[in-house]
Amino acid sequence: MSTRVEPAFLGTLSKFGAFDISACFNCGNCTAVCPLSTGNDSFPRKVIRYGQIGARDRMLAGKEMWLCYYCGECSDTCPRQAEPGEFMAAARRYAIASCDPTGIARLLYSSKMFAAIFMTALSAFFTLLLLSGAGPMVPASPELFQFLSLNLVHDTGLIVSSVAALAMIVGILRLVRNIMRHDQRAEVQDEAKPRWLARIGRAAVTTVTEIAAQKRLGDCEEEPRLPWYVGRRFVHLCIMWGFIGLAVATGIDYLLVFVAGKAPGQAHPLWYPPRLLGTVAGIFMTYGVAVAIVQRLRRPEKYFTHTLHSDWLFLWLLLLTGITGFVVEIGVYLPQGPAWMYLVFMIHVILGMEVVVLLPFTKFAHAVYRPIGLFASNLLATRTRE
Ligand code: SF4
Ligand code: SF4
Repeated sequence: MSTRVEPAFLGTLSKFGAFDISACFNCGNCTAVCPLSTGNDSFPRKVIRYGQIGARDRMLAGKEMWLCYYCGECSDTCPRQAEPGEFMAAARRYAIASCDPTGIARLLYSSKMFAAIFMTALSAFFTLLLLSGAGPMVPASPELFQFLSLNLVHDTGLIVSSVAALAMIVGILRLVRNIMRHDQRAEVQDEAKPRWLARIGRAAVTTVTEIAAQKRLGDCEEEPRLPWYVGRRFVHLCIMWGFIGLAVATGIDYLLVFVAGKAPGQAHPLWYPPRLLGTVAGIFMTYGVAVAIVQRLRRPEKYFTHTLHSDWLFLWLLLLTGITGFVVEIGVYLPQGPAWMYLVFMIHVILGMEVVVLLPFTKFAHAVYRPIGLFASNLLATRTRE
């Protein structure tokens, strides 16, 4: 692969994070101290070098930036205070923006004004849409889906999820194209097919195991470690599995209501399976997000020092979605349901839709892109071992 150089690239990248890589004199200390960098995947110095010389395509083609979990150890030991850990985070944000076909991610990352206008417009749109099909509010006996049309809520949710999934699929294809530009491609194509199938299988198992348990993130936590229940690995696992649980519960509820003709989950007791799954998953997700926000405010580790406004936006949206969800759940079981439940319910639905809209354009996207980077890394690692 020939290397195209963009002299202004470092300036563009600096909009995605707080670092001063111009101070870096390539000593390699950061790579030496990084607990995750190996002979096969050498970073962060390699990625920093690409940034310094403006080799944008080379940087995007590398899988290294997805292997870093930002423990900040390299930044702590950099003799030039160049913030290599933050550089890696900025490179990931830039990669997410590059994979986004709409340009929304780039604007969300680089402009607070755009983020404010975008979110205001989104909130106004969903509010007007839901109110356009709203029914009566009956005090003392809230019938949530008589107030907000069940069909309208589900159809809107389906459309929003489909658009977000489409944007995510295009992003994944772009990421794969970027990685496949890497110069190992010629060697990869020379391999015999059956052996490659076995390698792909092994790489897939290693990747799924790593993502499910986030072991490398545990290896990357700073010393002295925080108690496990507020440590980054546990918090990440809570958010990830909580979110997946909520998505699965919503999907099951949708199938039961619209395919099997059952009443929506709200009308069932707490032990109704989709409802129980949603409640447990919601507890994990809300806990994880709340701890992540508190840690970012208290900054007990390097990792929490720099948080961009788009990262804050997504975290607060998740937290408010979780809290309003539990308020609605409690209100449903009250014997005399209060009328304000209608308002909280509508806010909860709007926040949930906004979270889904933002999935391909914010920090959450790395939860999808990181496994692809890990898979590419594992695939090449199995090839190197043989
Ligand atoms: S970022 Fe710092 S530690 Fe890493 S190579 Fe540059 S000067 Fe050395
Ligand atoms: S932040 Fe941590 S994982 Fe990332 S490059 Fe630096 S030392 Fe390695």
